[in-house]
Amino acid sequence: KMANETLKAQLGNAAWKLFHTILARYPDKPSQQEQSTLNTYIQLFGQVYPCGDCARHFQHLLKKFPPQVGSRKTAALWGCDIHNKVNEKLHKSQYDCTTILEDYDCGCGGDEQEKDF
Ligand code: FAD
Repeated sequence: KMANETLKAQLGNAAWKLFHTILARYPDKPSQQEQSTLNTYIQLFGQVYPCGDCARHFQHLLKKFPPQVGSRKTAALWGCDIHNKVNEKLHKSQYDCTTILEDYDCGCGGDEQEKDF
């Protein structure tokens, strides 16, 4: 069995990848329903994240820095900033958020219209 720290890091990598990709694919002009859905998704993600200490800390960050769900750009930048807050706590370097939308391409190019967010 792999060391706990390795497993925790792999879980974090996978979780952040999905998290940032969802935000980078969120609509430019989301409806009220889409905004509400994303906000709920993020809050629940913070509740079900399986590392208990991580979840507790993340819920605290969500209270202090509520998700910015008004547009793709604001959502993606908010996600980058909150990940940077976690990086700071873990003494990791700060990520440059200026190309966040390009950094998280889902490879699902043309299917924006069919997407039922
Ligand atoms: P990660 O932080 O996993 O990042 C993966 C990749 O994303 C990086 O290689 C980089 O390419 C990119 N990246 C880095 N920063 C950003 C950013 N700001 N925006 C966009 N992309 C970025 N671990 C703990 O030990 N304690 C905790 O309290 C804790 N809380 C967590 C809370 C959440 C919600 C999540 C998802 C994970 C948490 N983790 C926690 C795990 C931790 O954040 C890392 O995932 C883990 O330490 C592995 O780090 P890493 O250096 O491989 O890069």
